[in-house]
Amino acid sequence: MDISVVVPLYNEEESIAELHAWIKRVMDENNFSYEVIFCNDGSTDHSWDVIEELSAKYPEVHGIKFRRNYGKSPALFCGFERAEGDVVITMDADLQDSPDEIPELYKMIMDDGYDLVSGYKMNRRQGDPLSKTIPTKLFNATARKVSGIHNLHDFNCGLKAYRKDVVKSIEVYGEMHRYIPYLAKNAGFTKIGEKRVHHQARQHGVSKFMGWNRFVNGYLDLMSLWFISTFGRKPMHVFGFLGSIMFLIGLIAAIVVGAYKLIGLYNGNNPGLVTDSPYFYISLTTMLIGTQLFLAGFLGDMISRNSSERNNYQISKVI
Ligand code: UDP
Ligand code: MG
Repeated sequence: MDISVVVPLYNEEESIAELHAWIKRVMDENNFSYEVIFCNDGSTDHSWDVIEELSAKYPEVHGIKFRRNYGKSPALFCGFERAEGDVVITMDADLQDSPDEIPELYKMIMDDGYDLVSGYKMNRRQGDPLSKTIPTKLFNATARKVSGIHNLHDFNCGLKAYRKDVVKSIEVYGEMHRYIPYLAKNAGFTKIGEKRVHHQARQHGVSKFMGWNRFVNGYLDLMSLWFISTFGRKPMHVFGFLGSIMFLIGLIAAIVVGAYKLIGLYNGNNPGLVTDSPYFYISLTTMLIGTQLFLAGFLGDMISRNSSERNNYQISKVI
């Protein structure tokens, strides 16, 4: 099979049939063998009925129905698990992403050797309020910096194409769909490209991602992803290092406190109580924090030693 199209959706009943017809037209025109996997993320409207109808009529249409709404990432994950095409293409169900981009995306993966190609929405300002576009810009700039994937302008674009190996090697969870290129890079897929894609305003239904809180959560996710990818296999290296620095500062401060006291006694004038010196408090807090950090490092190491992931490596070939 050439292509699997994975479509996560939540309450998109008006768009599904139209999207399928559009995908089918493009696939037939280009003679692709394909499947479409609709991942119904606990919709409360008639989305699932539409998918059932389509699937009864067209054998290439598959559906997965969640019992409740889990989010876009879990929907993608389950679609990825079942995808069989050489190239896997994800797109949103709301008709904002154009299936006309599929042939070119397929070519970039199969002929140009990309592991992952992300869409870059041209004219995306259409229909989006400022509360959405400004955070998006900041978000992409940070994601580029942290992930080290400098050529991507639009991490969050729903339209992406993957070599099959990529989707089988990464685990999208929580809200991590925003960082799939970063997950892919961490799994060792480094040829990541971008294609400018057409994008139109939403025609039916409403956006499921709005407001500033998704921005804050996005940053927290990015931080934990960065931490896990950098220190996940060696937590002691970061906590031990920070702990040592803290402890050293504390030790120096303690020596200063002691030295003042001794010098004072030696010279015969009253040196006062050690608790009068600010160094005493610096020493106390930094040594405590240093010890805590060390303990966190030990705990982290014990957890990662017992993790079922500890010997999970990405192997691309064995001969
Ligand atoms: N979506 C989903 N589960 C959710 C939220 C959204 O499967 O909990 C789907 C949604 O139906 C759409 C895609 O994810 O197909 C992108 O969502 P949306 O178009 O609302 O996001 P926007 O384009 O406004 O960023
Ligand atoms: Mg949308």
